[in-house]
Amino acid sequence: MKIISGGKELKMDETKVLRIITKPYRYNIHHFANNDIRCSANGVGLPSCYLCNYLDDYGRPIYERIPRFYVGAIDRSTESYCIIDITESIFRQIRDLYFEKGWATNS
Ligand SMILES: [Zn+2]
Repeated sequence: MKIISGGKELKMDETKVLRIITKPYRYNIHHFANNDIRCSANGVGLPSCYLCNYLDDYGRPIYERIPRFYVGAIDRSTESYCIIDITESIFRQIRDLYFEKGWATNS
């Protein structure tokens, strides 16, 4: 997880308390040549991304699209707004907590 605040990337530690305040914004990346490349396909209609269209001999994409999410949050240690950049597995954990009865409250 990365925290982006005022254009700077902050360190995340397990004691940090964040309050999620926006819906997640999904975007996709490709792992390419040891880098994370943002997918340029918008997900509507035919993909216009070169890496999405890069197929193996069986017509399968070589560089799969990997979803990531931006979520707006308040960092409770500084009471300031920040954007967190999370993987799909962390997104699923947050979503499961959100739908768990009796856990997620407005406080
Ligand atoms: Zn792509």
